[in-house]
Amino acid sequence: MSSPCASCAEKGTSCCTGTQILLTSGDVKRITAVLLRNDYFHFEKADEDYLDPGDDPIWIRITIKSDGTRRVVKRSGERHCSLLGPAGCRLALEERPLVCRLYPVAYTTDWIDGIDPSCPIAHAARPDELLNLIGTTRTDARRWHRMLMNELFSEYDDTVYCGNETTASPSD
Ligand code: SF4
Ligand code: SF4
Repeated sequence: MSSPCASCAEKGTSCCTGTQILLTSGDVKRITAVLLRNDYFHFEKADEDYLDPGDDPIWIRITIKSDGTRRVVKRSGERHCSLLGPAGCRLALEERPLVCRLYPVAYTTDWIDGIDPSCPIAHAARPDELLNLIGTTRTDARRWHRMLMNELFSEYDDTVYCGNETTASPSD
């Protein structure tokens, strides 16, 4: 039986398509060391989907720069992630962007819980079983969430994006 992610890719519903994949500076260091090139990312205007603060306004402020851009993996013409190959991601799990390692685990800046309902198999298995199916565990997810937040907060600029305006850091 093929993995859920492989069958998702066959149907064209993979989360590696369409999505703007955020990179921390730590991701860039790790991926550049593996690929031996740094032409796979750029800064791009944040997609509309990322401008809704939802229940986590801090997330926008640490992931969107004051000019409205995010550091993301380049996409091809059909909005496929440029690191996606014919057999799935070209990177090993521990080399991937932290947001990719975490998906489909749902999280905010300060908590981690459940599974993103956009993942087509989110309702097909209990969360732990689902994580097992895609080759990860809750312990890994907690570790990657800590890494992601540490890296995002460590590069946090004191001029942050806030809708159409910029504003000073929340600590000011
Ligand atoms: S994580 Fe979910 S949405 Fe992404 S490829 Fe796997 S099954 Fe599909
Ligand atoms: S980096 Fe890999 S896992 Fe992440 S979206 Fe691209 S192909 Fe998918």
